[in-house]
Amino acid sequence: MKPEIHSGENLDIQEIFPTLQGEGPYAGQPSIFIRLGGCNLACDFCDTEFDSYKKISLKKILAEVKKLTKNSVKKLIVITGGEPFRQPIERLCAELIKLNFLVQIETNGTLFRELPAEVKIICSPKISICTPHRGANASARSPLNRGEPNNKYHQIRPDLLPRINAFKFIISKSQKNYSDVAEVGQSKFQIPVYVQPMDEHDEAKNQANLQYAVKLCEERGYFLSLQIHKILGIK
Ligand code: SF4
Repeated sequence: MKPEIHSGENLDIQEIFPTLQGEGPYAGQPSIFIRLGGCNLACDFCDTEFDSYKKISLKKILAEVKKLTKNSVKKLIVITGGEPFRQPIERLCAELIKLNFLVQIETNGTLFRELPAEVKIICSPKISICTPHRGANASARSPLNRGEPNNKYHQIRPDLLPRINAFKFIISKSQKNYSDVAEVGQSKFQIPVYVQPMDEHDEAKNQANLQYAVKLCEERGYFLSLQIHKILGIK
């Protein structure tokens, strides 16, 4: 799906729900997830439901967040998708920060928007099995100037790269395309790398993926990211 250009007064929302953040640097933190509809990629292993969504006003989104955090300790808001950068989320982020929330975005790294500096950006690079919709400002892209970026992965937007707080790579022992952590620009900006075993819906494969991810962490100093929400059986 194409990136959208509008004021951000209304956003396509799949769901807003309280949970524990299950992945990456904020794993284990009580949070509110705002899942936006639609994605500009179509990854083969995608298990995210992002096709059924409703247009909801910014005012209603904020009211829902306030309702879900009333009398609670939840201070982390995770904006995910689909691909959150596909929609104009600048105003949503600014309003959430004004309300003293810690805002985290989960992105595939192929789109860019100028977000408040306080927003934490976690990027999970994806294999380039399809051509992404990059939007009207696609010409802002340029090749990375150092290292040897692995061409299997979609290039991370150079304007997004310095803003990324952590990378999260999905790792599989048996799927060649996902069997290693590629250089996508993390070295230049000393961005921490998390590796997350791919959920292949097969116990033996998942166990092999977990052991392989642990091995990569031990050998190279990456951090292990488990999908805690799946272990707990929560959303
Ligand atoms: S980028 Fe994420 S949400 Fe989009 S298709 Fe790939 S895995 Fe699914």
